[in-house]
Amino acid sequence: MKALIIGCGIGGPATAMALRKTGIDAEIFEAYPDTAESVGSFLNVASNGLDALRVLGAHRRVLSAGIPTPRMVMWSGTGKRLGEVANGLALDDGTVSHTILRADLYRIVRDEALSHGIKISYGKRLVSFDDTGDQVTARFEDGTQETGDILIAADGVHSRTRAQLDPSAPKPRYSGLYSLGGLVHDPKFTGEPGVYNMVFGKRAFFGYTVAASGETWWFANLPRELGDVPADWKPVLVEAFRDDANFSAEVIERSEVASALPIHDLPPLPTWHKGRVVLTGDAAHATSPSAGQGASLAIEDAVVLARCLRATKDHRAAFERFENERRGRVEKVVAYSRTISNNKAAGPVARVFRDLMMPLFLKKLASQESLSWMYRHQVSL
Ligand SMILES: Cc1cc2nc3c(=O)[nH]c(=O)nc-3n(C[C@H](O)[C@H](O)[C@H](O)COP(=O)(O)OP(=O)(O)OC[C@H]3O[C@@H](n4cnc5c(N)ncnc54)[C@H](O)[C@@H]3O)c2cc1C
Repeated sequence: MKALIIGCGIGGPATAMALRKTGIDAEIFEAYPDTAESVGSFLNVASNGLDALRVLGAHRRVLSAGIPTPRMVMWSGTGKRLGEVANGLALDDGTVSHTILRADLYRIVRDEALSHGIKISYGKRLVSFDDTGDQVTARFEDGTQETGDILIAADGVHSRTRAQLDPSAPKPRYSGLYSLGGLVHDPKFTGEPGVYNMVFGKRAFFGYTVAASGETWWFANLPRELGDVPADWKPVLVEAFRDDANFSAEVIERSEVASALPIHDLPPLPTWHKGRVVLTGDAAHATSPSAGQGASLAIEDAVVLARCLRATKDHRAAFERFENERRGRVEKVVAYSRTISNNKAAGPVARVFRDLMMPLFLKKLASQESLSWMYRHQVSL
C-alpha cells in the first residue's frame, strides 16, 4: 500500500513515520518550498504528545530542544495571583510537558521522517484529488500529480482536502482572538524556571516563560475583528497591555514581534473520511491553542491511524475504526480549549466574574487531577 500524505507540518511527518513502522510506504507533499517557521513563536508539547512521539522513537530530540514547563501560574491584569495548575501531568517516568520553538519542533519531526528514508516533496500544493475507487490521484498547483492507494490529509486547519472531501463541511470558526508572539533576551525579565505565566490582562491575554538561555518567550492573545490588521502590531499590543500590573508592555516593546495569526478552531465535522481519503490533525479537528493540545493530538492521530491501517487490509474499515477511536477524545479537547479562549476574550463584565471564579476553577483542577483524561491518554502502535 502507498499512502500520499498532504502537508509536512507536525502530523504529516509523524504519520509517515508511524506508517513506515507498520510497513506502509508513504510520501509527503508540502505546499511551501520549506517548512521553516517564524522564529518568534513556540508551542507546548503536552505530556500525552511526548508519549505519542516516544511510540515513534522521536521524542528525545524534542525533549532536548524544549524546556520542561510542568506548571502554569495564572495572574489577573491587576497583578493578583489567581492560582496555579499543572501544565500536563507527569508520565510514569516523570516526563513533563515541554515548551519548544515551533521552528525547532517542525524541523525535528521533519528530520526524523527523513532519517527513516521518507521522501518529502516541497512546492507541492494540493489543488484537488481524484478518487477512482481503485486508486487516488493528488493534483498539485505546479501541474504535477501523484497516484497512491490512500490519501491522508495533514494539511492543517484550512485544509484544501477537507474542502473537496465534503464541500458542505463546517468552516473554521474564528475565536475572536489574534495570536502574536516573540522573544527577548534581557536579564531584567525574570521568571521561575519551568513555569508558564498566564496573565488575564485588562484588554488582552499575555503568556510567558523564561528559558534556560535567559530568553523570555512570550505570546499574546488579542481580541480583534477578523481582518483588522494594523501596519505595525507592536504599538497596538503595547497599548493593550499598558494598564496591566506586569512587565508585558515592556517585554513587547523590546521584542521583535513575530507574525500574527487569527486563532480558529473547527466545529465537529460530519465526516472524516470518504473512499480512499481520510482527514487527520487540524484538518479533521483543529482546536484553539489555549489547551496546548493541537500538535499532540496530531501526533496521537498518526499512531492510531497507522495501527488501524495495519489491522485490516480494507482501508474503509481502517478509517472507520480510526474515527471511532479518535472522535470523542478530540472533540472533548476542542470544547475544553474553546472555553478557555472565551475567557481570554471576555468583555469588562465577564472579566470581573472570571477573575472572581478563576481561583475556584483552578483549585478544582489542581486538586482532582481532573485533566488526566487529556494528559495521561496513551496511544500504541
Ligand atoms: C498561535 C498558535 C499557537 C499554538 N500553540 C500550540 C501549543 O502550544 N501546543 C499545541 O499542541 N498546539 C498548538 N497549536 C496548534 C498546532 O500548531 C496545530 O494543532 C498543529 O500544528 C497541527 O498539526 P497538523 O500537522 O495537523 O497541521 P500543521 O502543523 O498546520 O501543518 C499543515 C501543513 O500542511 C501544509 N499545507 C497546507 N495546505 C496544503 C496544500 N493544499 N497542499 C500541501 N500542503 C499544504 C502547510 O503548509 C503545513 O506545513 C497552536 C496553533 C496556533 C495557531
